[in-house]
Amino acid sequence: MGLLSNLFGGGSAAAKPSAPRYSNVRIHPAVDNGVKAGSSAFSGGTLKCHCASDKVEVEIGAQTAHNHVCGCSKCWKPKGATFAQIAVVGSDKVRVTKNGEKLDRVDSHAAIQRYACKGCGVHMFGRIENTGHPFHGLDFVHTELSSASGWAAPEFAAFVSSIIEAGYDPAKMESVRGRCKELGLEPYDCLSPPLMDAIATHVGKANGNLKA
Ligand SMILES: [Zn+2]
Ligand SMILES: [Zn+2]
Repeated sequence: MGLLSNLFGGGSAAAKPSAPRYSNVRIHPAVDNGVKAGSSAFSGGTLKCHCASDKVEVEIGAQTAHNHVCGCSKCWKPKGATFAQIAVVGSDKVRVTKNGEKLDRVDSHAAIQRYACKGCGVHMFGRIENTGHPFHGLDFVHTELSSASGWAAPEFAAFVSSIIEAGYDPAKMESVRGRCKELGLEPYDCLSPPLMDAIATHVGKANGNLKA
């Protein structure tokens, strides 16, 4: 592998962490010291909000998929983080188990109905109620709210350019994208190609242009 990739200007060799250049760039606390691999044997855990007492608890009964860091303005971010970290899991695997009365929808008009704790503001899960939506049946969750280890690792960085909307200096975007790449989180300004393809496939089938 070493010799071949050196000869050809090296795909995977380039991803090796040879003296990271952008380690001072903060992305999200869960990845800033390196992306932790998930466990294939992992089968879920409990998300807890940030309240000091009477925490909202949400039980996730499965491993998540498509975990990623997200720069959009809608996803909940921990204090000081540039990106959110967010994954999906089947809605049937998400169960509010404690203090659910503290949950409230952030925006009842949004495609993703995000339920936040009224006490601390943390988003506990996001649900798509529209049955025609490409991601209907999936909930969006922040697995960092669980103390369990083994959750699926983030795989890419979505909506990177959107961090500018939240005030990030546009002149520093090269460093942000550089850091994402160093971490193995390919930066995109929308979702990843497989997810964008899944959305477009859904739309193509719905409008009849794409035959099943
Ligand atoms: Zn709370
Ligand atoms: Zn987002």
